Amino acid sequence: MTHKKILISGSSIAGPTLAFWLNRFGFETTIVERADSLRLGGQNVDIKGAAQKVAQLMGIEDEIRAADTGELGVRFVDKNNITKAALPKGESNLGTSELEILRGNLVKILYKHTKDSVEYIFGNQITELDEFEEGVTVTFQNGEKRDFDLVICVDGIRSRTRNLIFGDEPLVRPIGLYVSYFTIPRAASDSQWARWYNATGSRVIVMRPDNEGTTRASFSFLSAPKGYEKLTVSEQKEILHQKFADAGWEATRILKALDNNSDIYFDSISQVIAPRWSKGRFAMTGDAAFCPSPLTGMGVSLSVLGAYILAGELSRHSDYQQAFAGYEKIFRPYVTKVQKLPPGVPKLAHPKSKIGISILNTVINIISSKAVKKIGELFAKKNKSSSDDTIELPDYWKQANA
Ligand SMILES: Cc1cc2nc3c(=O)[nH]c(=O)nc-3n(C[C@H](O)[C@H](O)[C@H](O)COP(=O)(O)OP(=O)(O)OC[C@H]3O[C@@H](n4cnc5c(N)ncnc54)[C@H](O)[C@@H]3O)c2cc1C
Repeated sequence: MTHKKILISGSSIAGPTLAFWLNRFGFETTIVERADSLRLGGQNVDIKGAAQKVAQLMGIEDEIRAADTGELGVRFVDKNNITKAALPKGESNLGTSELEILRGNLVKILYKHTKDSVEYIFGNQITELDEFEEGVTVTFQNGEKRDFDLVICVDGIRSRTRNLIFGDEPLVRPIGLYVSYFTIPRAASDSQWARWYNATGSRVIVMRPDNEGTTRASFSFLSAPKGYEKLTVSEQKEILHQKFADAGWEATRILKALDNNSDIYFDSISQVIAPRWSKGRFAMTGDAAFCPSPLTGMGVSLSVLGAYILAGELSRHSDYQQAFAGYEKIFRPYVTKVQKLPPGVPKLAHPKSKIGISILNTVINIISSKAVKKIGELFAKKNKSSSDDTIELPDYWKQANA
């Protein structure tokens, strides 16, 4: 192991997972996070397939299960809150999945399991990177300079560190949808069911229960890219007011609560397509490298897997370039598969007219009907090899200790 000191930029899901595994394999890690503290916002996120296995290996699966949001499924409601269709938990691969946790709770668990072994720096970020033969000199926003062997960028879809390294080579491809997530006080109309409301004009409001006595709200709307993600939080709130003021249902309540909220996530839903994930002594993983978009439900799973494989390859090779090449060779085919969005996404879930909305509810009723589910299961069995959404994981931990 000739590359021991590693700087990781970004402390959400991918960053601490990467640090966890690198530490296990004997590396020294530092995480720099731009925010002053952990960012705990967001809704339920899923941990699926092979990522669940990584969580097991990390010894955090039980904690994740214990922090389940308790969501019973998704009800599709009209403006009078009458349920038009429903998808109970686990009855379809749409809607609520088996292992769901609030994004912020997962961030807390990962932090708890790394804080004693990782140097965390909050409220700072990388402003300059100078690669030399034996390492990289990093300049931080506060003017400090430090040397590291490798720098890994995991600071999300709009990563500035990625720009410092790769310029505009990675493509951030908008899919024509804006989404905002934030937390609001719970009200009597909220239950253990998530509620999904389609308003005309291709607008969707979703409210999901959490296990903290609050409700997780989201607004989404179809739109060509308008650069809203670059606006200040108060400008973004103004856009949401303009878009949803006449949406009906519980929009007024949610907009009122939005005004008292400072950690809102508002972005143009996009995918990151990068022709390479490393360059010299730099690499990237998580959303910064291959954001699949929340519509795949795989953002968290991919970042957990990417972090595990990148750390594992670094433990397996003494040459960091071979490690980066191995990481990409193992993981890229899987990422490419996950990034393929089904035809009609996101338009199908965001119909423009009242008729479109009622067709959507009918389709959901069909999907959730027992007969269709049986046929779906038969199909899934028949096509197992082509629809298998998992990846075979190398057992780095066993290899490192053999
Ligand atoms: C506040 C928030 C709420 C979210 N809510 C949801 C949700 O409800 N549903 C969903 O599917 N996905 C949500 N996401 C996205 C989801 O977390 C990611 O898709 C996925 O987990 C991949 O994680 P990541 O660690 O690669 O990147 P991210 O989760 O995007 O985290 C990137 C981290 O890097 C930090 N950062 C950014 N720039 C810099 C910089 N220059 N230097 C240092 N640090 C930097 C950010 O503050 C953040 O902590 C949310 C992300 C955030 C940050």
